[in-house]
Amino acid sequence: MKNTAALIDVEANNFVLHDPSQLLLSLDDLAAHRGDGIFETVLVTYRDDTTYIHNQALHFQRFIDSACMLELPSPDPKLWEEALRATAKQYKELNPDSHTVSIRYTLSRGHDSDTTTHTPHGWVFTAPVPRPEPTEITVITLNSGLSSTTAESAPWLLRGAKTLSYATNQAAKRYALSNGADDALFHTSDGYALEGPNSTLILRIGDQLITPDPKIGILHGTTQRCIFENASSQGLLTQYANVTLDDLGNAQGAWLVSSVRGCRPISTILSSTSGPATHIPVDHNLTEHMLQWVLSS
Ligand code: PLP
Repeated sequence: MKNTAALIDVEANNFVLHDPSQLLLSLDDLAAHRGDGIFETVLVTYRDDTTYIHNQALHFQRFIDSACMLELPSPDPKLWEEALRATAKQYKELNPDSHTVSIRYTLSRGHDSDTTTHTPHGWVFTAPVPRPEPTEITVITLNSGLSSTTAESAPWLLRGAKTLSYATNQAAKRYALSNGADDALFHTSDGYALEGPNSTLILRIGDQLITPDPKIGILHGTTQRCIFENASSQGLLTQYANVTLDDLGNAQGAWLVSSVRGCRPISTILSSTSGPATHIPVDHNLTEHMLQWVLSS
């Protein structure tokens, strides 16, 4: 596959398409060595000569909210949308047999050497993805070290913003893989479920879909929001709540959902501290509905 990219000049309010194999970030870019910037990753599908950027309005609103939390200039929806569309179009031209790709868009604070005033700039690039598969997964619960009140009392931790600082998320994934799980699920030090390193948790309890309230200090997932908007078609109610690890163990279904990986049902939960594995029923039918809702959004 040949990837495509665009560089965005925020000040000049324009962009240029660029060959990503030639792309060079300046070594003093604050995104690269401080993780000082924000990003979004969207799923793009091509069907019947149309390009779908799934849940783009929700993604872009979160991009704007993240910029606000990091005191970055508010991104112009028209400029970024045009850059995304142009990047997606060029990808399809170069890879006519491809039906799916992910596009990541990033806003960096700028360069370190700008000293007092930084000049933010952005970029957009594609990465191939397999079509999301509803594979059952084993998840290990990991203590985030934060309590359920930390997000509110420590706003400088930027909980809820989609920043580029993902080193601990990556470490959690590696820990999960080397401890017999497919993915991780963070929880607070006082026992509330948070989110996966790259995904949102959804539980089914009775006729309700429940997800941890973003106010606890997690990303407000676009996939979860799309699923909640469609849940009533299956007779399901929806709720944001504080979810305990006990609630998770007693659920009639649980999923980790994200734009790129889709909706993966959790079948087994391991604990990083001890105790036997907990098994959760897998609802293949509802999982299929979730995937369809995302692909038609
Ligand atoms: N939580 C975290 C930490 C994430 O990184 C992601 C996505 O990458 C999600 C949740 C799921 O968000 P979305 O459904 O918008 O992809």
